[in-house]
Amino acid sequence: MITDRPTHPEIRDAVAALCRDFPGEYWREKDRERAYPGEFVKALTEAGFLACLIPEDYGGSGLGLSEAAAIMEEIHKSGCNGGACHAQMYTMGSVLRHADEGKKQSYLPQIATGALRLQAFGVTEPTSGTDTTRIRTTARQDGNGWVINGQKVWTSRAEHSDLMLLLARTTPREDAAKPHQGMSMFLIDMRDAIGNGMEIKPLRAMVNHATTEIFFDDLRVPADCLIGEEGRGFYYILDGMNAERILIAAECIGDARWFIEKARDYAVERRVFDRPIGQNQGIQFPIARCLAETEAAALMVQQAADTFDGGGDCGAQANMAKLLAADASWHAADMCLQTHGGFGFAEEYDVERKFRETRLYQIAPISTNLILSYIAEHVLDMPRSF
Ligand SMILES: Cc1cc2nc3c(=O)[nH]c(=O)nc-3n(C[C@H](O)[C@H](O)[C@H](O)COP(=O)(O)OP(=O)(O)OC[C@H]3O[C@@H](n4cnc5c(N)ncnc54)[C@H](O)[C@@H]3O)c2cc1C
Repeated sequence: MITDRPTHPEIRDAVAALCRDFPGEYWREKDRERAYPGEFVKALTEAGFLACLIPEDYGGSGLGLSEAAAIMEEIHKSGCNGGACHAQMYTMGSVLRHADEGKKQSYLPQIATGALRLQAFGVTEPTSGTDTTRIRTTARQDGNGWVINGQKVWTSRAEHSDLMLLLARTTPREDAAKPHQGMSMFLIDMRDAIGNGMEIKPLRAMVNHATTEIFFDDLRVPADCLIGEEGRGFYYILDGMNAERILIAAECIGDARWFIEKARDYAVERRVFDRPIGQNQGIQFPIARCLAETEAAALMVQQAADTFDGGGDCGAQANMAKLLAADASWHAADMCLQTHGGFGFAEEYDVERKFRETRLYQIAPISTNLILSYIAEHVLDMPRSF
């Protein structure tokens, strides 16, 4: 190990031990087949890691975001990928914060045990892009329920989820007092919905992310699917964004550490011109730079998680943490591929797969430009650009 992280060492050790059962060959095969890593998700669920943020009263372990970040970082540092299940850890936050007590009692304990999987989160649509106010999926009240029509895209893990959190317009944009109002959040039981107005189509992508398109054609759902107050769905989503950004940033730190360690090991072993390539400063310096960048980003991630756990406003820190950590992991990926030369392209080294996987974080769940725009507007108090 190149670096030693002091936070939550017991949790890190336990996660690393679990991940040892899922080595590179496992992920390579899943990637090749575009198959879901169900065994890995099951092991994490059974060990209780995915329920760490659910309060003890609802069957979880009631830990903080700092512990959750340590779990995600360690998964990625071990060469595994949390994308198949990270949403099971944090999507329930919307239910926890905004659903009524009856719903919390009926869903959260089952989510904690993994009996129910809530890991589909439908916000993005083909035509709205990052401008969520322009989503076209609608939910219309009809008798004793809602009727949903529209389309989502990039809804990850939908085929491996029982429940889905869905954002839909309940008041047309032009009739809402503000563009961000008039959208509502629904908790959909996909087991009832599929084939009855909901259709899921897998979307093959650059990364193995179990992502899909979802079509809603007069899907009827009960009235009590609405979470919280009608029209406030966008604000509920905003609520969960800081936690999501911090956890994704932790995944990036884990990836960066994996790339750095992999590059360092290869550089000291690989001999060219009768000496290890790692003896050349042209090879050493990029690795050293990536380590420094990663350590700095990791401090920001930790600070953001601590502020979140302390109940403070962590918006600026969460956004900066995501930006810096995604940059650190991407720079480390590029450095690691370069250090490996041609072998970096060979599937069996895992570098090309992790390279593709970590590239995602420049785009999702929020793109780099949108984070920079948040910092400019909300931290630097510069004029709003859109
Ligand atoms: C593998 C994968 C999994 C995903 N999983 C989910 C999921 O589970 N649920 C879900 O809802 N979504 C999911 N997404 C969607 C993801 O959140 C979006 O792709 C992301 O937020 C970017 O939105 P967009 O693709 O519509 O890009 P666009 O909004 O079309 O933007 C395209 C580019 O233009 C830039 N841009 C746009 N507007 C501005 C501006 N005003 N100023 C400067 N630059 C701008 C963006 O930064 C981006 O680089 C996933 C995406 C991928 C690729």
